[in-house]
Amino acid sequence: MDVCVILTYRCNSKCSMCYVWQNPTKVNDEISLDTLRKIPSGIDYLNLTGGEPTLRQDLMEIVDLLYPKAMTLEISSNGLHAERLEPIIEKYPSIKIRFSLEGCEATNEKIRGEKDGYKKKIQGLLRLKELGGKDLGISMVIQDDNAEEAVELFRFAKKHDFEFATSTLHNGFQFHKSDNVPYNRLKIVKHMGDLITEMLKGFNIKNWFRAYLNLGLMAKVLGHERMLKCSAATDFAFIDPWGDVYACNVRPSMKVGNLEHKSWNEVWNDADLEAIREKVSNCTHNCWMVGSAKTAMRHPKYVKIPKAGPLLWVIYNKLKIMLGGNVNFKRYINYENVYKDKHVIRRQYFLNKTVKRKLRAKNEPHYQNFGKFFNK
Ligand code: SF4
Repeated sequence: MDVCVILTYRCNSKCSMCYVWQNPTKVNDEISLDTLRKIPSGIDYLNLTGGEPTLRQDLMEIVDLLYPKAMTLEISSNGLHAERLEPIIEKYPSIKIRFSLEGCEATNEKIRGEKDGYKKKIQGLLRLKELGGKDLGISMVIQDDNAEEAVELFRFAKKHDFEFATSTLHNGFQFHKSDNVPYNRLKIVKHMGDLITEMLKGFNIKNWFRAYLNLGLMAKVLGHERMLKCSAATDFAFIDPWGDVYACNVRPSMKVGNLEHKSWNEVWNDADLEAIREKVSNCTHNCWMVGSAKTAMRHPKYVKIPKAGPLLWVIYNKLKIMLGGNVNFKRYINYENVYKDKHVIRRQYFLNKTVKRKLRAKNEPHYQNFGKFFNK
């Protein structure tokens, strides 16, 4: 099972696609070591994220506590304080670190509202590599502003021996906004197709399966059904900074329980969980967030083994590329069927802008006033 823990909703980026930074948590309210201790051992993949996890002063203690509980532990960071990860990498060189980077310098700074963000991230990754980091990489949210830079950024990552993870725009309750929709869906999927081809050209097996994951992103961007059934509430859980456990990070109605007040077994064996699983199996959001996509692609029991569908797709298309052919995307993607938005609101950018933040206290309702959303 995979678990994603949001350690904090404080963040020092000012992204256009996520307003977590405008709605920070109070430091003293954030999930404590005692609550985190309740996460059981034997987690397949545990992602520590935010907000920005390096803003937690006790990050090293958190890693000490959770590293032994998971087969893979990832810290997803914006990379603006890479130096705070140096002692962690020195102690745990195999820990997975991903820095969010949205393209070349100008594109990254625009989308993420980060001054000198590009330089800090690249320098930070190189420094972590020098210190012995073994699983370092870049995460990119492919969208209108950066889709045409995806292949270039992938090549850059490859050149430096960094991993390259992708996602696309989603609406979800923790983002506090509902305008994460693509403006030009066909343009974005064209570039995703180029990235898939590039990923299949190399000899990194992880990239071949990332190519399949990107095929799922193409379907998502066009507003199609998920390629594989969602595994939220069965193989994936999401924990927010107040210790609330959700089936996924998209629908606020999928709350399972609170880890601060209950044990993991009480939360994960709650009578309501079956009803939530039923909701998941009937969910029409068709999102393709990494957490619910990755878990859907693998064998439910033997997590290192992919399901037959993705495996056969990878073998067939890798062979095709090796033999000088191309991926026949039309076989998998119906380009005629493009979701038409009734109303598109243009996203705002915040570089060099000052925005008043609304502190979210523990005893307040957390995920309201962000409008209705749907992931088409
Ligand atoms: S498909 Fe539905 S249940 Fe699954 S992650 Fe998306 S919103 Fe959650």
